[in-house]
Amino acid sequence: MAAKIISGAEVAKQIREELKREVDQLKAKTGIVPGLVTILVGENPASVSYVTGKQKTAKELGFYSIQDNQPADISEAALLALIDQYNKDAKIHGILVQLPLPKHVNETNVLYAIDPKKDVDGFHPVNVGKLMIGEADYLPCTPAGIQELLVRSGVKTKGAELVVVGRSNIVGKPIANIMLQKKDGANSTVTIVHTGTPPEKMIEHCRRADILIVAAGVPKYVKADWVKEGAAVIDVGVNRIGMSESGKAILAGDVDFEPVKEKAGLITPVPGGVGPMTITMLMKNTVKAAKVAAGV
Ligand code: NAP
Repeated sequence: MAAKIISGAEVAKQIREELKREVDQLKAKTGIVPGLVTILVGENPASVSYVTGKQKTAKELGFYSIQDNQPADISEAALLALIDQYNKDAKIHGILVQLPLPKHVNETNVLYAIDPKKDVDGFHPVNVGKLMIGEADYLPCTPAGIQELLVRSGVKTKGAELVVVGRSNIVGKPIANIMLQKKDGANSTVTIVHTGTPPEKMIEHCRRADILIVAAGVPKYVKADWVKEGAAVIDVGVNRIGMSESGKAILAGDVDFEPVKEKAGLITPVPGGVGPMTITMLMKNTVKAAKVAAGV
């Protein structure tokens, strides 16, 4: 039987409605409006499109939001000074520096400079460390979105064999850490596979997964015969595989969607799966930061 398609767009819409109510209540009760600044260095088209989406959602939710555009040749010192200014700005609860940064700027220095209490992207080493010990203030947005999709789709995570393909710092490692915590919506038996895993072992690991999360950045990589009958398959990949006649990018995930959907129990599409959840979780983290600042 064909898999149920998990619509990230619908789940994200539902969470945004919940957040809008929280924002309205926070304003009414405390006068505090969640504040988010997105800092964009240069004009990388993908980054411009990401920050535009983030700002649009922030406005829809009634946030105080600032889009801070900086030239591609801004010095690292000037960027750090700018971040420090937002660290001290009481109206700003969340700071996001859109990555990647130009080569002359050290990304680690920039991530360290953000006040961990305002690190709504969840990339500051303090928050990464807190995630490891199960005490995260802010979960990184894409992995948090994946967990939320699993939970809201009713997938049983406790005791599930969960395999993650990919070990990046922004997706693979954090989602593996989130799902192995002894907590509701997690408590899975977690395996991570990567380019160091021999190919035949990789397939073996994937085949026993009740939950298979794929973040490799390789289009249509995971095939139907790698997937256990009835598994929940989360496809994080976003790969441009061509251009339509109207000039729109044609996207493919890391999972060979059509054949895999005949085998899986649940599957996320690309686009419209994990993608819409990422921005929504950024908004959720910002509301949380504002509530902490308000003491509620
Ligand atoms: P990344 O930094 O390139 O990491 C990819 C990971 O996959 C690496 O750990 C790499 O292993 C592993 N890998 C690559 N080829 C593999 C193979 N053939 N077999 C097994 N493992 C392999 O990518 P990322 O940032 O994690 O992103 C992964 C995908 O998700 C990309 O398509 C990206 O566009 C997408 N993404 C989507 C969202 C969203 O919001 N929807 C957010 C972030 C990323 P090594 O460590 O050994 O090199």
